[in-house]
Amino acid sequence: MSVVGVDFGTLHSKIGVARNRGIDIIVNEVSNRATPSLVAFGPKQRSIGESAKTQETSNFKNTIGSLKRLIGRTLQDPDVEAEKKFLNASLVDVEGTVGVEVTYRGEKQIFSATQLVAMYFGKLRDITANELKTAVSDLVIAVPGWYTDIQRRAMLDAAQIAGLNALRLINDVTAVALGYGITKLDLPEPENPRHVMFVDVGHSSMSVSVIAFSKGQLSVKAAAYDRHLGGRDIDYALIQYFAAEFNAKYHIDVLSNPKATFRLLASCEKLKKVLSANNEAPLNVESLMNDIDASSKLNRETYEELISGVLDRIALPLQQALAESQVSIDDIDTVELVGGTTRIPAVRARIQAALGGKVLSTTLNQDEAIARGATFAAAFQSPTFRVREFHVHDINQYPIKVSWERSASDPDDDTELVVFPRGNGIPSTKILTFYRKEPFEIDAEYVEPATLPGGVNPWIARFTAQAVPPAPNGDLTCVKLKTRLNLHGIMSFENVYTEEVEEREETMEVDGEAPKKKRVVKKEIPFSTRTSSLEPSIVEKLKELEAGMHAADKLVMDTEDRKNALEEYVYDMRAKLDERYSSFAQTAEKEKLNGMFQEAEDWLYSDEGEDATKSAYVGKLDALKAVGDPIVARYREADERPRAMAQLRATL
Ligand code: ATP
Ligand code: MG
Repeated sequence: MSVVGVDFGTLHSKIGVARNRGIDIIVNEVSNRATPSLVAFGPKQRSIGESAKTQETSNFKNTIGSLKRLIGRTLQDPDVEAEKKFLNASLVDVEGTVGVEVTYRGEKQIFSATQLVAMYFGKLRDITANELKTAVSDLVIAVPGWYTDIQRRAMLDAAQIAGLNALRLINDVTAVALGYGITKLDLPEPENPRHVMFVDVGHSSMSVSVIAFSKGQLSVKAAAYDRHLGGRDIDYALIQYFAAEFNAKYHIDVLSNPKATFRLLASCEKLKKVLSANNEAPLNVESLMNDIDASSKLNRETYEELISGVLDRIALPLQQALAESQVSIDDIDTVELVGGTTRIPAVRARIQAALGGKVLSTTLNQDEAIARGATFAAAFQSPTFRVREFHVHDINQYPIKVSWERSASDPDDDTELVVFPRGNGIPSTKILTFYRKEPFEIDAEYVEPATLPGGVNPWIARFTAQAVPPAPNGDLTCVKLKTRLNLHGIMSFENVYTEEVEEREETMEVDGEAPKKKRVVKKEIPFSTRTSSLEPSIVEKLKELEAGMHAADKLVMDTEDRKNALEEYVYDMRAKLDERYSSFAQTAEKEKLNGMFQEAEDWLYSDEGEDATKSAYVGKLDALKAVGDPIVARYREADERPRAMAQLRATL
């Protein structure tokens, strides 16, 4: 069984696997360690990951990024509105969730964000399976700590649609901390833990965690976020600046032209990276718009002024996390940076300033620490891969309450209760007690909707106990309800039951008295829950749909492959027929084959042959080979005879 951990990034994703007693970040089909988080739709097939990136400029309307920012959201969500400036595809409503409308195989089609993520996960699955040479099903996926129940459930749905089983959704900074802690052999006793602050500034969001490490465990003390602070906000500020400059300089309105904006964006990202290591950087975009080659440059000072709006927001999450952890800055042992955007010197300077000049550390692999940590988390769940024991105590970010209607038979009853407060451990179980006579309903929701990511529905689940057994004396029945905040950070209603104490007389008499033995008998009550997770029947349907699209993509690729094989055979064999095979073919054979080659070539370049079925290409190639193969065989035999003779002689 493979052990796989995924860092699902806004820009790129990374995959870790456990093998050879260690953890490796694997490469994709073009040998990159990071795969673009993009899904694209074309006239014949979908392109996902690298191939989506390659065709992005020519097909940006049907290329979708921001996948992790869209999943679990609605079209009306203010966060989704904010996402639009980073997206070229048209967003639409798909049964109350956000999705896209694209042109795929010549038709307008609609896909939900959950489906898009499933498509992307399918690609990551294929990359992994190809690398490991085995099927992949279980994995751990790292998600932002600020994800809510709805987003987490949608991620699990997406994994299922891709035929994957998410063993755990782990908060991404917690994954980093896990990867960090498990390799440290000198951790202190629990009474005197070592505190480390982790700061991740990626492409779209910033996360901060304060973690206490001690022997064999880590505890998240506090976490804080800015969901809208990352490298793309810096890119955006740069585009605005250069667009204004080019408007004045060349009289072109780059921002009115999506393709030009897109090309300027790519150049700005490059410039940004150069400025991380240099004091000045050039910007050149050939034929940006109206055949104008645009060029400019930028120095650090102007750059840092330009992005000051972004830089100014860095301090807050750091201060929040620190304050809530109740660990003083002097008691923070190290501050570890991860995420691509922490490579920017100004970003580091701001982090350092906000932490009173604390020295920052970059001992972790900034790009791969999350994937590594997620893979360790997967290894814990694997029966085959042995890892040192290490306990991860994560915490709940948003308080969760349950509420119910006041029961007529118990007018003094409360109507709500906070079950999992902020900071509550993950996973954890709580048993609630109710006194009821009739079936009853309970809702679970987040207590403070205003603290949730913009616009996310605070509702989590509705629980219905279907039949409450009457108490023997006609009183209210004491009903126990088991609730759980599970390993994914998702709240669930596990089961509901009554407990009856049965007293039974033992059959054997002791001293003339039959002792009574007490036994608690649990009786399950039938119940149902409704959550934002997709119904199993819908998951099945989407899974089939996904498998169908995957098969169609594969057919397109195989067809292309067979077409290339036919083309190659025609050219290769025709050339060889004149040279190396010449003396092994009879004139009639040669004439026949050359005629067939001509015919095949004409066909390949006709409308029909340009876009034929896989079997048509296979059929043509087989027909050619039927004539060609005997010639090749004769050549081989003649070629091998002297060698065989030499060998024979040597053995004699
Ligand atoms: P997120 O964590 O927000 O979902 P992500 O994980 O995809 O996003 P990362 O891979 O951590 O993001 O970082 C990508 C960002 O880092 C991009 O904006 C990229 O331009 C930026 N980046 C990478 N290298 C550098 C560099 N040398 N200088 C400046 N920025 C950089
Ligand atoms: Mg990231």
